[in-house]
Amino acid sequence: DIYPQVPALLTRHTGASLQRLPARAADSYKNQFGHVMIVGGDHGFGGAAMMAAEAAARSGSGLISLATRPEHVMASLTRRPEVMAHPVVSGQELEPLLETPDVIAVGPGLGQSPWSEQLLARAGRAKAALVVDADALNILAGGRVLAGFKRDDWVLTPHIGEAARLLGIANADVSADPVAAARRIQEKFSGVVILKGAGTVIAHADGVEVINTGNPGMASGGMGDLLTGVIASLIGQGMELPAAARLGVWLHGEAGNRAAADGQRGLLATDLLPHIRGLVD
Ligand code: AMP
Ligand code: MG
Repeated sequence: DIYPQVPALLTRHTGASLQRLPARAADSYKNQFGHVMIVGGDHGFGGAAMMAAEAAARSGSGLISLATRPEHVMASLTRRPEVMAHPVVSGQELEPLLETPDVIAVGPGLGQSPWSEQLLARAGRAKAALVVDADALNILAGGRVLAGFKRDDWVLTPHIGEAARLLGIANADVSADPVAAARRIQEKFSGVVILKGAGTVIAHADGVEVINTGNPGMASGGMGDLLTGVIASLIGQGMELPAAARLGVWLHGEAGNRAAADGQRGLLATDLLPHIRGLVD
């Protein structure tokens, strides 16, 4: 099942087709579409975690939870009552919540405080598949949490700066050869690596793919948080990690292009949300 637009979008590819989600059966029920939990939103960064949760909701997840600082719970319930918002003040409080979701996305607005580190330490060891983004990657790069940790069932989604920190090299070195950088991160952490930028590189055990999509209007805060929610949702709906990464990157860029029909400058991450729903079916 291949999108007609695909050949133009994939400049280099391992040969796998861009798989999409199957149509929903008439007698579908929500448990079939996965429970995603977003972990993030330290003081001052609640929006990132909320946007990741809403992106997961608009991508078709059956259930969405958010584990965040208590001060963000009311805002989340007001913006999106469909999201189950849990206040957490410590890793210990997070622990029991990690039992239920099928996939956990950790990092949007996570910050790098002791609270953030506690949450990542617990989430990283959860049995559910993981998407690791943003400050979760920066904490990982610091080496004090989950040191030497590798998982086959996680997706890491660094932008250039986060990739540079994960490898301990300069941003310019990542930009000079993003394919090599993505490969090296994948070798170091295993799983699937999505190196984001004006072009996106996906590295996994079977090879490297480059997807050129999206537009410069997407160079604004919150865009990456949406991608995290979309990919977590696709994994929760049963896709293999590389397939979820590929479809997620494509969907996200295409939603960005549709939203940018009204202009690139001033494009907001939340403007993409209605377009995600239109593309995921
Ligand atoms: P982040 O930096 O984590 O907010 O992620 C930004 C997201 O927007 C990534 O998915 C990027 O691939 C995408 N993006 C940012 N700038 C561009 C651009 N100039 N062209 C295409 N996509 C972009
Ligand atoms: Mg980001």
